[in-house]
Amino acid sequence: MAAFRNRPQLRIATFCLVALVAACISLGWHAPAAAQEAVKAKAPYIDAHTHLDDRSPAGVQSMLESISRQNVKQIFVLVPPYTVDDPANYDTEPLLAIAKQHPDKLAVVGGGGTLNAMLQQAVTTGNAGPEVQRKFKARAEELVKLGVIGFGEITTEHFPSAGSATYQYAPADHPLMLLLADVAAKHNMPIVLHTEAVPQDMALPAPLKSPPNPARLHANIAALGRLAAHNPRAKIIWAHAGSDNTGYRTPEICRTMLMIHPNVYMEIKIDPVAPGKNPPVENGKIKPEWLKLYQEFPDRFLIGSDEHYPESNGPQRWAAAVELLDQLPPDLGKKIGMENPLRIYGVKAD
Ligand SMILES: [Zn+2]
Repeated sequence: MAAFRNRPQLRIATFCLVALVAACISLGWHAPAAAQEAVKAKAPYIDAHTHLDDRSPAGVQSMLESISRQNVKQIFVLVPPYTVDDPANYDTEPLLAIAKQHPDKLAVVGGGGTLNAMLQQAVTTGNAGPEVQRKFKARAEELVKLGVIGFGEITTEHFPSAGSATYQYAPADHPLMLLLADVAAKHNMPIVLHTEAVPQDMALPAPLKSPPNPARLHANIAALGRLAAHNPRAKIIWAHAGSDNTGYRTPEICRTMLMIHPNVYMEIKIDPVAPGKNPPVENGKIKPEWLKLYQEFPDRFLIGSDEHYPESNGPQRWAAAVELLDQLPPDLGKKIGMENPLRIYGVKAD
């Protein structure tokens, strides 16, 4: 403080402060998008669940620029879970063509446009007969030959979203799901399953609306357990732990599933725009009940942000995942961020 007794220095200091504030404001200091760009993971990680909504060269370029800022080692791109008649439906081939150009950065989890669509159609028609099974299995085997590293995004409980506009339900132990588990086990590839938690038959919980959702939901947790038990060598990744729309995807229900079924894994997702009912991070801090769960099962979690590229304006899902990852003890962060996805998918990062 002594220096400021000298009046010319005080005037210079005041001028500098005013100039700095003016510069901050004129440079968009308040803009959240600018702040987002500064986010970067402390250690390299893999984001095992992303989507590429714009597959044009400009869309791909925008995704690559974004991931180059994140300290992400690799991202796995999934085809969203579509129905047959969804106008947005596409499947795996265009993603594989893009990934081949950037094999160090991108890998593809496929089947959301075909396998999931066939599953949903089989539920709607009630036909899961031998011919349907033959075609389903043939497509799964074809995807393996084409170069996918896993099957997804498959859904057995899905509320409409911007990515996939229809309500979808299938029993997790549907004959086609059991068949897919066998194909997945044979090739040591996981299935990425989007399933909102519904422990018993129940009315649609608020604030979800019917329509487009049904007024009542089917119990699905026991069926998910039966899928996992059907082939213990099939790795089932139960997506979106941390983004819960029913109120039942709690640390407790996750813990029970992980304890009973050693072949079940979970992706961590945090949606900063719609955090849902059981977010693992609150006011920027990881919640102790979720941290305890990750510590109890350090080999069973991976990051699956569900980021859609190109990035939208506003807070990004990948940045929310990084915020969680950076708060984990370093050994646990290394497992969840890097070692688990590599092991579960049986892939190598260079
Ligand atoms: Zn997804």
